Amino acid sequence: MVNQIPQSHIPTITPHIQIEQNVPLADKNWFKTGGLAKFYFEPTTPEQFAQALGFARENKLEIFVLGQGANILISDEGFDGLVIRPRLVDMSAQQVDGHTALVKAGAGTTFHDLIEYCLNKNLISLEEFSGIPGTVGGSVYINLHYYEFLLEQFIVNAQIIHKETGKIITVDPTWFKFGYDASNLQNKEYYLVSATFQLKLATDLEVALARGRRQEIIRHRERRYPQTNTCGSFFRNFLPNEVENTEKKLIYVAYYLDKIGVKGELTVGGATVSYQHANMLVTKPGATSTDIIKVAQIMQQKVFEQFGIKPQPECQLIGFKNNPL
Ligand SMILES: Cc1cc2nc3c(=O)[nH]c(=O)nc-3n(C[C@H](O)[C@H](O)[C@H](O)COP(=O)(O)OP(=O)(O)OC[C@H]3O[C@@H](n4cnc5c(N)ncnc54)[C@H](O)[C@@H]3O)c2cc1C
Repeated sequence: MVNQIPQSHIPTITPHIQIEQNVPLADKNWFKTGGLAKFYFEPTTPEQFAQALGFARENKLEIFVLGQGANILISDEGFDGLVIRPRLVDMSAQQVDGHTALVKAGAGTTFHDLIEYCLNKNLISLEEFSGIPGTVGGSVYINLHYYEFLLEQFIVNAQIIHKETGKIITVDPTWFKFGYDASNLQNKEYYLVSATFQLKLATDLEVALARGRRQEIIRHRERRYPQTNTCGSFFRNFLPNEVENTEKKLIYVAYYLDKIGVKGELTVGGATVSYQHANMLVTKPGATSTDIIKVAQIMQQKVFEQFGIKPQPECQLIGFKNNPL
């Protein structure tokens, strides 16, 4: 539906862009649950992104910027504001010297496409993130991580757009204040438009090895983790200060979740703790976000009763009026 707005509260319609209404979000996130977006728009240029922000500002709407929906849980009530899903998917590469090159990718580019683009241009390094779903925007937001690799190790600059003014500026990596699961984008004052990565210019042989590594990582992930109907790790690891009063002082949340015996066992409605990984919740058709929340609450309660600490979600909760976790 396009621009069909109840007469009682007609919002200001920004010219040139068509904002949709009451758009389902369940098919736009990996849990495949959740309600509707009250307003929805997919900008294909930075200018349209700025116009969408203007529309939200003029109509006093909350904003949620959606990537591939691989790390979010959307309320069954939906999102009572404007969901912006940037379709900014341009990529370009520029050689710096005989060893390195810079690759710039729009915020809506999937990591899968980015890695393939790089390997096709003999640029290696990002294949360490093979098999992880998500866009460049969502990945910079969380500082994507896999074992010892953090996305911040490769970023040299980025373009960000200011929520209030729509102004686009270029920033260096220090702006992001990256940490584990942390970046300045989480203050939601700016959104990512594009990011530039510094990568290694490789020989054909090195690229063949990198492709092999990519396949190996994907195979390893497929064996160990569920691949669909999940948001990946539901809870984040603990910070050192959060575990200082526990016996083993371990920050790894999976350790505590393994001990409470919920793996493959705990189910509410259509949501279950994966039998493959105690920190991954999976859904089956008909599941609701409320089912997922109930499973997560029971997990929090069990860890708290046994260890005196409460796991916190890594998964972003969207559209919930009160934080249920
Ligand atoms: C099977 C599976 C395995 C996973 N494995 C890993 C893993 O190994 N390591 C890991 O780190 N993560 C992992 N994840 C989590 C997920 O892949 C990452 O968090 C990914 O970066 C999410 O990207 P997205 O585009 O889907 O973001 P979304 O889920 O759509 O959004 C996540 C957050 O990013 C914000 N965001 C999105 N785009 C922008 C933008 N342009 N500007 C500002 N903010 C933005 C959103 O507002 C939201 O707050 C896994 C998920 C799944 C489903």
